[in-house]
Amino acid sequence: MLVNKAYKFRIYPMKEQERQNAKTIGCSRFVFNHFLAKWNDTYQETGKGLTYNACSAQLPHLKEELSWLKEVDSIAIQSSLKNLSDAFSRFFKQQNKAPRFKSKKHPVQSYTTKQTNGNISMEGNQIKLPKLGLVRFAKSREVEGRILNATIRRNPSGKYFISILAETDVQPLEKTESAIGIDLGMTDFAILSDGQKVDNHRFTTKMEKKLKREQKKLSRRAQHAKNNGIDLLDAKNYQKQKRKVARLYEKVMNQRADFLSKLSTDLIQNHDVICIEDLNTKGMLRNHKLAKSIADVSWSSFVSKLTYKAEWYGKTIVKISKWFPSSQICSACGYHDGKKSLEIREWTCPVCHTHHDRDVNASKNILAEGLRMVASA
Ligand SMILES: [Zn+2]
Repeated sequence: MLVNKAYKFRIYPMKEQERQNAKTIGCSRFVFNHFLAKWNDTYQETGKGLTYNACSAQLPHLKEELSWLKEVDSIAIQSSLKNLSDAFSRFFKQQNKAPRFKSKKHPVQSYTTKQTNGNISMEGNQIKLPKLGLVRFAKSREVEGRILNATIRRNPSGKYFISILAETDVQPLEKTESAIGIDLGMTDFAILSDGQKVDNHRFTTKMEKKLKREQKKLSRRAQHAKNNGIDLLDAKNYQKQKRKVARLYEKVMNQRADFLSKLSTDLIQNHDVICIEDLNTKGMLRNHKLAKSIADVSWSSFVSKLTYKAEWYGKTIVKISKWFPSSQICSACGYHDGKKSLEIREWTCPVCHTHHDRDVNASKNILAEGLRMVASA
């Protein structure tokens, strides 16, 4: 099966390349905003929008007028225009809000360029990019297949990343004749029906505490600047702290992403059927804000990774209804023991006297329910 795989690497542009990047991002933004304004005007006057082709036909003229547009990757500019027209298509299909002007102040700045005639390629630990030449990158794995496009991003921490989309042929994995149920939790990230608990908590709590502390410091500095009548953009200490928080947050998210990639790959390799709860319910039980936001992002990202990997490698994901009472049923005899408050971590079934770990029991029930659904489908 031909699939699109995304790869993300950190890149290390040299000073000159950083300048060129900034220019390309600036020009892409300019073109986006320029045509957005035209689009809005035309819409107001005629009740109709423009088309990608109509705008694209104006590009050469615009470049003659504003020659600095010629100094950057022309495909990046073209892509920016394409983004705008796609955004309008989605808007007219009522899938999105109307596109808005791009701001220089947005924390993440990026542009996208497309593969044409080998203008993007990997050469050892360097990536060849249009108008930039060779850029060193942190090569953590091989890019397989045909490169379709590349997005260069500058994060608020000042680091650069590249996302490469490549089309590659994947083969189904060998069948293992194994099925597993997963309960997603807060204390442990995932509890498996084979009794295994996947814990990422210790690491995250430590990092989260640190992040929280630094965020508090950031708001103190913002307040301090405000009290002294200093604009935040000119408040050096505030800006310094802001970058520090951004770096820390990035680190937490990157480590999470790695962890989720490995865990989902492991599960897909070792099991043919993976049963998991439908996620929506979980959110209501949490309060701790930062922990919650990270957990929410992690769960949905984990489920989406499992889902596309299952499709690639010929495995099955079964989602269990959020109303299924996975923590109330005895997984040994099926006795329905009623609701249990969250602080009950262990219990003994009054009928068959099996002693249960709450979460492992839940994941066993999720597995049984999933297999029942597969059998009756
Ligand atoms: Zn029982």
